[in-house]
Amino acid sequence: MGRITLDKVTKSFGEVEVIPPLDLTIEDGEFTVFVGPSGCGKSTLLRLIAGLEDVTSGQIRIDGNDATNVPPAKRGLAMVFQSYALYPHMSVRKNIAFPLRMAKMAQSEIDRRVEAAASVLNLTDYLDRRPGQLSGGQRQRVAIGRAIVREPAAFLFDEPLSNLDAALRVGMRLEISELHERLQTTMIYVTHDQVEAMTMADKIVVLRAGHIEQVGSPLELYREPRNLFVAGFIGSPR
Ligand code: ADP
Ligand code: MG
Repeated sequence: MGRITLDKVTKSFGEVEVIPPLDLTIEDGEFTVFVGPSGCGKSTLLRLIAGLEDVTSGQIRIDGNDATNVPPAKRGLAMVFQSYALYPHMSVRKNIAFPLRMAKMAQSEIDRRVEAAASVLNLTDYLDRRPGQLSGGQRQRVAIGRAIVREPAAFLFDEPLSNLDAALRVGMRLEISELHERLQTTMIYVTHDQVEAMTMADKIVVLRAGHIEQVGSPLELYREPRNLFVAGFIGSPR
């Protein structure tokens, strides 16, 4: 389960409306990418879905239930942060287990989930290391592991690869795509990188100044960009 619906959602900071009324449906299991230039509202939109910001008006539904005023930890979604959000003094095992310990889950269940996540992410041999003893890619996998163990209805990524070097970024893109194939869980992925959007997405949402310019598959946007902004941004010939 992981169908997310935004109904006339708006967000203002003080007098400034950064998200004008916005409607969007993200289907269960879909890999959706929010793409657009810096400052267009990608992070704000993701944070509204996560519950890290309150909507100014409108409704957010998750699997049909009104989640608009549900606190972040109760939405059943997991935000994947950049790898520098790991705790340097804790082992990989403890970093991954952290959200479950916070939720006071039974230790046997924590162990089961951490082992399963480590296996999926090829981190089994690294569970007793600290983040400082890992490569950048492995650290990013630990950050993803911390989301996986919560068995969320959807994963929310906010430019998770932007502090990795170019070569590593390409590898991690593939790993995240493979993870989606394997888990078949809804993923929303924010980036300002067109290549990332075109290569990873089932569905791309092109944002500009807080509103949606166009929604479609990479091929649809490439073949039929609605306007010059989308064409220019996606890099199609029109
Ligand atoms: P993006 O992630 O696409 O770069 P953001 O969602 O971070 O864009 O920001 C969208 C707009 O909202 C920007 O103009 C930004 O300055 C503004 N903004 C974001 N967060 C805040 C905040 N906490 N207070 C005031 N303005 C904000
Ligand atoms: Mg951002």
